[in-house]
Amino acid sequence: MGITLKTEAIVLRSIRYGEADRIIHLYTPEHGRLGAIAKGARRARSRFGARLEPFFHIATMLHEGRGELYTVTGVDTIDSHARLRDSAVALDGAARACDAVSRLFEAGDPHPEVFALLDRQLSLLASGLRDTQPAALAFRLKLLLAAGLLPHLGSCATCGEREHLTGFSAAAGGVVCSSCEASAFGLDQETYAFLVGAVGRPLADPPPASQRALQQAERAIRETAEYHVGVRLRPAAPVALSQSPA
Ligand SMILES: [Zn+2]
Repeated sequence: MGITLKTEAIVLRSIRYGEADRIIHLYTPEHGRLGAIAKGARRARSRFGARLEPFFHIATMLHEGRGELYTVTGVDTIDSHARLRDSAVALDGAARACDAVSRLFEAGDPHPEVFALLDRQLSLLASGLRDTQPAALAFRLKLLLAAGLLPHLGSCATCGEREHLTGFSAAAGGVVCSSCEASAFGLDQETYAFLVGAVGRPLADPPPASQRALQQAERAIRETAEYHVGVRLRPAAPVALSQSPA
C-alpha cells in the first residue's frame, strides 16, 4: 500500500491519456512538481468534473502507487482562475507561466514560494493584466531567484566593479563591467534598471521599460536558464500580442 498525499496544487498541464483518463502535471507547495493520473477524468459523469483543467488551483488527494505517477483520488477547487478563459492574451500568458515553472523546476525540488508566485501570476493575468511582457519577465526573474539562479546584479560578476556595468554574461553569472565584457552582450542602463526593479518590486508592479530594454532583459533571463540549468524557456510573451491591448 502506498501513501496518500493531501496537498494544494496548480495544474500545469493536462494531457489526454488512453480511453478516458488524464495525466496531469501539478505544482505543489511542499512537494514541487509531480505527475498524476486521473482515471476516468474524461467521462461525462466523472467525479473530477472540470477541476483538472490547466491553471486550476486545487486541493487534491493523491495516492502514491508503484510507478512515477500518483493517482488522483479526490479534487476540490480552490480557485479556477475562471477569468483567464475570457481572454486569449491572459490564457497565453498563463500557459507561458506554467511552462516556465515546468522547465525550471525538476520533480522533487519543492519551492513553496514558487507555488505562491505562480498562483499570484495566474490571479494577476485573470484580473486583466494588460502589458504582459514586463510582468512575464518580472515573474521569470522571481522564479530564478527562487531557484537560486538570480543573475548577479549589484556589481560586475567577474571583477566586482560597481560602475560602468554595460554587459550581461550568463557564463560570468550576471552583469559585467566594460573591462570584463568579452563574452557578454551589451546591456543598456535602462535594462539594468528594469532587472533590478523587477526583482525588488511586487509582481503586480514591474517597472516600465522600452521594447529594446525588455528584449535585452529577456535575453539575459533566457541565457541564464540555458547556461545554468540547460533549459530553454519559451519566449515570455508573443511580440505581436504583448503590444496590443487585452
Ligand atoms: Zn568587471
